[in-house]
Amino acid sequence: MCWHVLGAGSLGILWATRLARAGLPVRLILRDEARLAAYNAQAGLALIENGERQRFAIPAQTASAGEPIERLLLACKAYDAERAVAAVAHRLTDKADVLLLQNGLGSQDAVAAMIPDARCIFVSSTEGAYRDEDWSAVFAGQGFNWLGDTQHGASPAWLDDLRQAGIPHQWTADLSERLWRKLALNCAINPLTVLHQCRNGELQAHAEEVTALCVELGHVLHGCGQPGAAEGLLDQVQQVIAATAGNYSSMYQDVAQGRRTEIRYLLGHACATAAALDCPAPMLNQLRLRLIEHLNARGLPSD
Ligand code: NAP
Repeated sequence: MCWHVLGAGSLGILWATRLARAGLPVRLILRDEARLAAYNAQAGLALIENGERQRFAIPAQTASAGEPIERLLLACKAYDAERAVAAVAHRLTDKADVLLLQNGLGSQDAVAAMIPDARCIFVSSTEGAYRDEDWSAVFAGQGFNWLGDTQHGASPAWLDDLRQAGIPHQWTADLSERLWRKLALNCAINPLTVLHQCRNGELQAHAEEVTALCVELGHVLHGCGQPGAAEGLLDQVQQVIAATAGNYSSMYQDVAQGRRTEIRYLLGHACATAAALDCPAPMLNQLRLRLIEHLNARGLPSD
């Protein structure tokens, strides 16, 4: 069975090339005819791993291609997910599995509501990759992938493809705690690195602000039925800040490079959840407003 990978960005390339390297059939779905022509004008996708570049001539198409899709890996940003799925929804078979790689929360439920007959599988990934040029990604950080669905269903048979492809993974019956925890870590660290224009480690100088955010995030997590995601949150935030002291957060890098952030699905989702629960979150709301102001001042979208 073929893997259709929508989006040939950092993670799309990382997944598509490893699946293709294992001899599995893969098709890329690109944004439009212009991107397809640009892709076809050169020699496939490249993956750079341990300093070595390998090329893979993976066939590509646009959403308007006719063939049915039984397994779709949605590898675009959260803010592109609904539009991207709308373009291929008519091609999904009635047994289709759709893997959602998006960071944060909110986009997955929105996509799942658009394709109620498909089995949507959420993925929480700690692998790291970035594009060094078009159609080429550097595998920058070993990590892990947790997969699960909202129905607490059994693990799909195609997990064996991931094993064959050397994609580290585990089926997790309830992924929501992990997704909420990752979102909370992101909310406590990333926006502050943007506003203070600093590396993660420099947040040690803003310990009071970090602590207050973690307290509020804990209340929101308890309010939305995720006490497990709240447990030990501040300790883990401090550990991440120390362990990644020399790094710039992904949101910092997006803003520094003039790219749109996924604010709506991270801090925005935490604030929207707090509001829906009537859970007071003044620090989080204030942080969001400061971040929006910062993004607007740089001409970047703030949603
Ligand atoms: P990315 O490098 O920006 O790639 C996104 C790709 O999606 C781009 O190639 C874009 O096409 C494509 N795309 C958008 N709309 C499309 C459409 N309608 N049809 C076809 N292609 C479309 O993003 P990424 O870093 O891979 O991130 C993907 C998701 O994974 C994000 O939610 C991110 O937060 C999450 N994530 C990333 C990493 C990482 O290390 N990169 C780690 C963990 C989680 P164009 O090239 O034409 O613009």
